[in-house]
Amino acid sequence: MRYISTRGQIAPIGFKEAVMMGLASDGGLLLPESIPASDDGTLAAWRELSYPELALEVISRFSDDIPRADLKNLIDRSYRSFSHPQVTPLVKRGGIYILELFHGPTLAFKDVALQFLGNLFEYLLAERGERMNILGATSGDTGSAAIHGVRGKGRINIFILHPHQRVSPIQELQMTSVVDDNVFNLAITGTFDDGQAIVKTIFNDLAFKERHRLGAVNSINWARILAQVVYYLYSYFRVTDSEGGRGVDFSVPTGNFGDIFAGFVARRMLGEERIGRLILATNDNDILARFVTRGDYSTAQVTPTSSPSMDIQLASNFERYLYYLNGEDAARTAADMEKMAAGGSLAFDGQALSRIQREFAGYRVAEPEVIATIRDFFNANGYVLDPHTAVGVRAGLALRDPGRPLVCLATAHPGKFGAAVAQAIGEQPLPPALAGLVGLPTRCQILPAQVGAVREFVERHAC
Ligand SMILES: *Cc1c(COP(=O)(O)O)cnc(C)c1O
Repeated sequence: MRYISTRGQIAPIGFKEAVMMGLASDGGLLLPESIPASDDGTLAAWRELSYPELALEVISRFSDDIPRADLKNLIDRSYRSFSHPQVTPLVKRGGIYILELFHGPTLAFKDVALQFLGNLFEYLLAERGERMNILGATSGDTGSAAIHGVRGKGRINIFILHPHQRVSPIQELQMTSVVDDNVFNLAITGTFDDGQAIVKTIFNDLAFKERHRLGAVNSINWARILAQVVYYLYSYFRVTDSEGGRGVDFSVPTGNFGDIFAGFVARRMLGEERIGRLILATNDNDILARFVTRGDYSTAQVTPTSSPSMDIQLASNFERYLYYLNGEDAARTAADMEKMAAGGSLAFDGQALSRIQREFAGYRVAEPEVIATIRDFFNANGYVLDPHTAVGVRAGLALRDPGRPLVCLATAHPGKFGAAVAQAIGEQPLPPALAGLVGLPTRCQILPAQVGAVREFVERHAC
């Protein structure tokens, strides 16, 4: 399988190179040259597989430059860290399916991709005899999933900035209780935006970046998308095992468009009779919901909500879908992205809009509805949703086709967002995995929110 850029300015490369490149060197995003459809015989065989076995079949279709035995080993190790034997189990509540993606080490769905990516990086760096220093800023979730993805690995050090005393105590502990030698938690005395700005400045110093082999933890690495395709297929099989051969719709709480783009890839692999509509659910930050319902892709101010991992305006993976929408025309995609970067907007109507609406349905869930959904769903079904999952469930219930099974992706454990959950139902579920963090030894360096201080720290501790 060869990979190309959405902006068309790189020669096709293999999977391994695509993983190491991350962002395409022409500024675009990497995509496989084709998405292989799956025939009935293959699907019948895949239906019988366990989660890691299915992951091997799906991922190997896109990564033929890694020997199968090596890939199997990477996948098996990645999903052994999950606490549920099915890795991503389905539960049925209130007439819908909830796909629990939060049984990994940090209790959020990003573990599904980052556990695999961490192992993959370690493998590829060893093969190339190279090292990498990962630098990133987090407001909570991605940073801890990335730390847990690479902790204890050879050839990789990771430096994660978080705003000192401005992340929840649980989120802080999830990061600082990781005391492996290759993990550096930097609490900066400033805001998340300060952290992001510092990281951006350091990455812009190309000589420094090259000297220390800086790598990023962003959601645009193709390997992350690929790992997420697996649970769409796995849950499609589990639902149709129990409901018969009909197709399935999905509702996906969306921020950077990574998770739902994985659903788009799964839909191309399985066909639209099997995976029908992908319901794109947003919180008040609704640019993507407007894109689907009205063809209006224009950015607005970011509004803070109880589902912070979806408080995003310009979604970093949107360009991947735009490329397909533009009929795989890279020049047109590059021009559209340039227009957005210059502060413009995009508008779609006619055939383009009908195509968007065949593939997606969009819905915005306003903040008061999020809390009400957590409360109502708990009262009716005795099941606690986290605020991100509640956005997806609310949108799914509003737009569902009663004749088809609906799977709502549960992207975080409610214990991670205890304040919002307590506001809704008056209690705060604390799973043992989080309760067990209290009192563990921690390691964290407090630094002023200054480029120089962070740079110097990285310089001293880089591998
Ligand atoms: C990252 C995240 C999302 C959004 O996923 P995208 O791939 O960015 O669309 C939703 N819920 C939770 C809990 C997350 O951490």
